[in-house]
Amino acid sequence: MTRQNHTWASPKAQRYYERHRDEIIASHRGRPANRAKANEYARTWYRLRVKNVEFRQRLRRQWLEYYYRNRERTRDRRTAHDHNRRAAGYLTQADVAYVIERSRGLCGICGRMVRKADRSIDHIVPISMGGDNDLRNLQLTHLVCNMRRQAARIPAQMIMLA
Ligand SMILES: [Zn+2]
Repeated sequence: MTRQNHTWASPKAQRYYERHRDEIIASHRGRPANRAKANEYARTWYRLRVKNVEFRQRLRRQWLEYYYRNRERTRDRRTAHDHNRRAAGYLTQADVAYVIERSRGLCGICGRMVRKADRSIDHIVPISMGGDNDLRNLQLTHLVCNMRRQAARIPAQMIMLA
């Protein structure tokens, strides 16, 4: 039996298929089982991520650490992308640049000058409390100030979830 309506990459590929047909078909039969395993894995991951507050916070912390380490490289692009993922309303790199300019380089939390490498865009009303990406809801902050503010917020969020 040969495959109908199948375009072979090369005669060699066709010969390989014909020689190993039984094994290939057998391996395909294994797929539903693998799929079930993959689904189970995805479900476990989902449960951990969505239901387990502690796990979610650990992920968040790991991500922040990653962000902090790579902030020079990925700054504005990453900031725009990250905010878009979490909030309603679209934010472009130009928006990020505008927010930085509007703040005249001063941190919205501590009021001091923000060096390029320490920049972060903060939601004045957090996404978790219904804030969005409207430019009026964004301010330039030190990354450290932003992280500190977020860390300070965690107990309040836990009370809300409890
Ligand atoms: Zn600051």
